[in-house]
Amino acid sequence: MDNLTPEKRSIIMRAIKSSNTKPELIVRKMLHSAGYRYRLHPKNLPGRPDIVFPVRRKAILIHGCFWHVHKLCGTARIPDSPMWREKLFRNIQRDKEVRTALRSLGWQTAVVWECEINKSSSKVLRKLKLFLDA
Ligand SMILES: [Zn+2]
Repeated sequence: MDNLTPEKRSIIMRAIKSSNTKPELIVRKMLHSAGYRYRLHPKNLPGRPDIVFPVRRKAILIHGCFWHVHKLCGTARIPDSPMWREKLFRNIQRDKEVRTALRSLGWQTAVVWECEINKSSSKVLRKLKLFLDA
């Protein structure tokens, strides 16, 4: 039924912004088992952060390495196409604006990258515990 080439399909799939991505589900599950309770994508906060802790005023942003251009990891190569470059640079800009807006409302943010979760989810949990319990 799929009349697209695998290449075209993968471009389309990468372009779909899902709010329930796999890395996000992994982090949610981890935090839940560790006893944390949270809210998801609240409409009343800038950028609708992925996971929020209203009482602590802390938000966790889970970023796909390609989509959010993770500079410290190999998968975040910016494609040569001007269209993609513009799109990705806009994402970088938007991420900055969201974090600044949250900070100005008194919220602290932590970013978790997709590759960190793939490398060691227990390390990510330790990092988030430090962030949340500080
Ligand atoms: Zn990465």
